[in-house]
Amino acid sequence: MSLIERDQNTIWHPYTQHKTAALPIAIAKGEGALLWDVNNKEFIDAIASWWVNPYGHSNKFIADAIYKQLTTLEHVLFGGFTHEPAIVLAEKLMEILPKNQQKIFFSDNGSTAVEVAIKVALQYFYNKGEKRTTIIALENGFHGDTFAAMAASGISFYTQAFQGMFIDVVRIPVPVKGQEQVSFDALAEIIKKHNCAGFIFEPLVQGAAGMVMYEPESLDRLIQICRENKVLTIADEVMTGFGKTGKTFACDYIYEVPDMMCLSKALTGGTIPMAITTFTQDIFEAFYDEDINKALFHGHTFTANPTGCAAALASLTLLNAPEMQDNVARVNKRHLEFQKHIESHPKVATTRVLGVIFALEIVTESSASYYGTLRNKLYNFFIENGIVLRPVGNIVYILPPYIITDEQLQKVYEVVEKALEIA
Ligand SMILES: *Cc1c(COP(=O)(O)O)cnc(C)c1O
Repeated sequence: MSLIERDQNTIWHPYTQHKTAALPIAIAKGEGALLWDVNNKEFIDAIASWWVNPYGHSNKFIADAIYKQLTTLEHVLFGGFTHEPAIVLAEKLMEILPKNQQKIFFSDNGSTAVEVAIKVALQYFYNKGEKRTTIIALENGFHGDTFAAMAASGISFYTQAFQGMFIDVVRIPVPVKGQEQVSFDALAEIIKKHNCAGFIFEPLVQGAAGMVMYEPESLDRLIQICRENKVLTIADEVMTGFGKTGKTFACDYIYEVPDMMCLSKALTGGTIPMAITTFTQDIFEAFYDEDINKALFHGHTFTANPTGCAAALASLTLLNAPEMQDNVARVNKRHLEFQKHIESHPKVATTRVLGVIFALEIVTESSASYYGTLRNKLYNFFIENGIVLRPVGNIVYILPPYIITDEQLQKVYEVVEKALEIA
């Protein structure tokens, strides 16, 4: 039996309708920005395997750190115990996070990082004896697939089967160009009408919505409105964190600071599942009490797994190296050149670039659905041409590992340009 037949016999894949989906591609090896399948066909991983892998596949530096940790202390429970990798990682993160972020809570993935943030926002007011139970979110946001994260997400594709079973979430329009005031007004109105505990948002770039972007000034205004009304703000930097936007965090572009931040994806350079939610001292203190009921009763078995912490520490070393910062700047420069080249193409509706993120919207007669025929046609064309790209409806985006070479990037651009002819 082939690998693929064995896969189909036993495995249920994410976001997949198995009856109609194409068979998966079995990948055997990765190095740098490249992947090879079991037949040795080469692919350029132009989306860093769902945005987790900035430093390249099978990175030796991270692998060495993992090996060393695995053979020293692979795991220990984090309730009642602690360890140096977690402490050093928390200290290192504190150096690069906004100054108001003072406490670090560990979990396993982006959804749990969000789940923790939302629970903390709700319990913060519960502990203070205030009834605030509504969470505000941006339209078309994506925050993960567990229940509270899903409730906050606005892409109906992912959530329609569960409508009516969620915590209270009210959505405001994204403050894209021309919609800023509508968005500010909607936020103020909702805060007036509901008992709002928190506002969760993807700062500056909505990844799963198709790299939808908005300006730092708008985010500053939204956070100000929340602060004036004592609504806690949650920056979901699961996608944008660790250099994607050209700065370490998207929140580094704004003057205001969020009350909480969610981190995952690139945290461990795409090696070990790990996530972090960070908090202000004020939030921590709302749980700090003689009364055990005021504690945060949340935890996961693999919380602060030492091997994950070692991988994250090695990843931070790579991120902060001048060569890596040069790579981020280089990819951004190439994107801007490609944008200039492609933006007047008759099939291109709009383009946008921030940091290593490039997106273009293809002109379509009607709005293309998330997993519609155009999307599938484009996806298959990219795969045939050895490029891993996953368009969202009519939006094609590139978010490569920072270490992608100019030649590899050039090939990605050429295939994207060719794809416009079949669109
Ligand atoms: C991917 C993503 C999540 C969910 O992370 P998982 O690790 O897939 O659970 C949450 N928020 C944002 C912004 C994301 O991009």
